Amino acid sequence: MSADSTPYVNKRADPSVGDYATMCRSCLSRRAALATPAVFPWASSRPTIPRDLPVEPRMRLENALPGRLMVALTLDACPGGFDERIAKALVESGIKATVFVTGLWLRENPAGQAFLLAHRDLFAIENHGELHIPPILGHRRIYGIRVAGDLATVRREVTEGAASISAATGTAPRWYRAAAGYYSRSAMLAIQHLGFGIAGYSLNADEGASLPA
Ligand SMILES: [Zn+2]
Repeated sequence: MSADSTPYVNKRADPSVGDYATMCRSCLSRRAALATPAVFPWASSRPTIPRDLPVEPRMRLENALPGRLMVALTLDACPGGFDERIAKALVESGIKATVFVTGLWLRENPAGQAFLLAHRDLFAIENHGELHIPPILGHRRIYGIRVAGDLATVRREVTEGAASISAATGTAPRWYRAAAGYYSRSAMLAIQHLGFGIAGYSLNADEGASLPA
């Protein structure tokens, strides 16, 4: 985290990519980083990128105040456990964050879920998929995780993840962040058509969940 405790992201101008402001990054056991409205590298200026080569969206804070250090803190709650050290430190310092959770994590971490729900003033809960399947087409692995392979699997992963969050929190998520952080371009478009904003980050603070908390 940085020197500023203003982690929420400013509103996006593009209504097709979500309309409110909270996203974050990290496994509660391992990540912290910057995030913001998307500037997709494939959008216009890089025609040489093959259509469905996995891309990692880089995002920056919109309307950041000059001369101030600002971050949007985001965490990913993947299929792993719940590291209370991070969550409690945030609560003790009154630092807001967005936590992207999977359906798997919600089912396996009732105490973690209860902790987040007890601090809704600090934690926004968004969609990290149902089973932590990277929204990537074809046959490959990212960080050792088998990718979705096709758009039907991507859509199921995103919609079922959203349903799990709605059932657990009573609030429908508006943002989705990919397992492993990478997307196929066509999967990004399909996810946006489902009504979700595409979340990324500007700094991956745990090198693909490979660093200790
Ligand atoms: Zn994850």
